Amino acid sequence: MPKFDADYVPSSAMTIFAHPDDAEFLVSGTIAGWTRAGCEVTFVVITSGNVGTHEEKFTREALTRARKAEQEAAARVLGVKNVVFLEYDDCELVPTLDLRRRLVREIRKYRPEVVICGDPQAWFFEDYYINHPDHRAAAVSAIEAVFPCAEMELLWPEEGAAHEVRAVYVCATHSPNTWIDITGTIDTKIESLRAYGSQVGGWDPSEKIRERAARETKRANLEQVEAESGIPDPHSPPVYLEAFRVMKLKE
Ligand SMILES: [Zn+2]
Repeated sequence: MPKFDADYVPSSAMTIFAHPDDAEFLVSGTIAGWTRAGCEVTFVVITSGNVGTHEEKFTREALTRARKAEQEAAARVLGVKNVVFLEYDDCELVPTLDLRRRLVREIRKYRPEVVICGDPQAWFFEDYYINHPDHRAAAVSAIEAVFPCAEMELLWPEEGAAHEVRAVYVCATHSPNTWIDITGTIDTKIESLRAYGSQVGGWDPSEKIRERAARETKRANLEQVEAESGIPDPHSPPVYLEAFRVMKLKE
């Protein structure tokens, strides 16, 4: 197994998020880099995002169809191989045993080396964003599905053979310990977000996404980033980063 550092690319990865577009907003720079390097990625999208609009023209059914097509288009931009839609209802997600078991089924089926999800402990971001309850429910369910449930042979054997995930990459976290350089993939990240017409409308995500990734760079411990990514020239540090708390479950 290759060693863990900011350059580590797993052979396979699974993202588990609540809504179509969560993976693109949060981790698609990393995903684009990993798929380019040969990583097989599966997106698990728990809800249909079927109430995620303030526009009157949509019904829940029409929005489900639109967002599914957008998610599939974004996944193609990112080189993601599989997209799994669990079709739970938007804004009603809670971390039930049923949800945890559905996630165990997907983990055991696709057998990812790494799982990427949100941080269940993150409620507030600075003074402007209250984390969506679906995001917290998805995050807690993902983490509980990875550990310990997916790896316990005697638990739900009908959901597939037990599987040990090597590491969990927790994003949108207040306690990051790893920063991945997305300077080379930020354009692909922005392009994947352009697929979401129902969410971004006429808005161009370019500026906000660059601003956010640059803010991450400012916040990061650059000494550690440079040591991890082996960047030889300390005068040309990465411009754009995505931050993670990496939990290593298996060496
Ligand atoms: Zn979301």
